[in-house]
Amino acid sequence: MVPAIHRPAKVVVDLNAIKHNVTAEMQHLPQGVQMWAVVKANGYGHGAVQVAKTALAAGATGLCVAVLDEALELRNADITAPILVLGITPAKEAALASSFDVSLTAGSLSWLKAAEQVLAASGQRLKIHLGIDSGMGRIGFSEDAEFVQANHFLEDNEHFFVEGMFTHFSTADSSDDTYFNYQVKRFKHLQSLLTIKPKYIHLDNTAASVFGKEVKTDLVRFGIGIYGLNPSANPASPSLPTEIDLQPALSLVSELSFVKQIHQGYGVGYGATYQADSDQWIGTVPVGYADGWQRSLQGFKVKVGDSYCPIVGRICMDQFMVLLPKELPVGTPVELLSADPAAPNNIKAAADQVGTIHYEIACLLSDRLPRVYHS
Ligand SMILES: *Cc1c(COP(=O)(O)O)cnc(C)c1O
Repeated sequence: MVPAIHRPAKVVVDLNAIKHNVTAEMQHLPQGVQMWAVVKANGYGHGAVQVAKTALAAGATGLCVAVLDEALELRNADITAPILVLGITPAKEAALASSFDVSLTAGSLSWLKAAEQVLAASGQRLKIHLGIDSGMGRIGFSEDAEFVQANHFLEDNEHFFVEGMFTHFSTADSSDDTYFNYQVKRFKHLQSLLTIKPKYIHLDNTAASVFGKEVKTDLVRFGIGIYGLNPSANPASPSLPTEIDLQPALSLVSELSFVKQIHQGYGVGYGATYQADSDQWIGTVPVGYADGWQRSLQGFKVKVGDSYCPIVGRICMDQFMVLLPKELPVGTPVELLSADPAAPNNIKAAADQVGTIHYEIACLLSDRLPRVYHS
């Protein structure tokens, strides 16, 4: 989608908050532990290149993305730091990744063999991180026998440099450590089978690091914390306290594009699900579900001028309506999402309303919303 630069609606990202969060995490990490900033999905909707540059300037030493194209976007922006693709990349892209000095995740012996063919054909060497499925049930080695074979395959293999070995936790945001500890044990067991020595061992995501569960390794893959959002991922339950101070960076702002008075019996929006029971002032905001402003946010209160006003009627593709306390002028500022965690329209509150996690609210904000940065 084309960014709508002639519409008064934008995602505002406070790069100072990003810097604050990275700095706070760097101070929290034990000496010598690196931070690799996770900027997948366009930096969780905040803008990958800007966030990556800010995080690197504040002390992060590497970057993680989900797919190869996200890594190429960063390279095209002249970012030279190490970049790891966390997902499985088709083996046929191994040469492309190597050409741009991008590290890929290797999750199976068959993938390694297929990638080796490609790399042999072009005479290249690829940096890889061995992905371990220690209990997430998603990607990576999980069986001893296959992992031992992979280790053997990689010994003295000129086409691969084993830069890392990592796993991903599924319950790091839980107050119950049982499954977390099971995953650590499983990872350490597989690590004990290796004769090759990966440069970086890494397990922790934001939650493991800021909820006091850190497993001391070489680096932390720090994602949601960069953006100042609490990694607790249980919709509608209170967030766990974090060991570092997090400052949310993102807000979403627009303006009233139209204001009118409606009378008793008038409906608002598709299906006329809202009907006025008296004379009321209704404002229209030019943002809708095509911007990632989901229909299930109906009823959520956004800040219009100084007051919090409920969204009435169904959210349309490109517009939604709010019930105003009084007549307000077209152009009145509307804050859909606030970066202030104490504000009623903070991102966690929006996620609770939708029954999801704030990760989803942030990264669904579509390209039609321009990203504007201040620092
Ligand atoms: C997304 C992701 C992360 C970052 O997780 P946060 O909860 O945002 O810190 C780390 N590692 C892997 C493998 C991921 O997919």
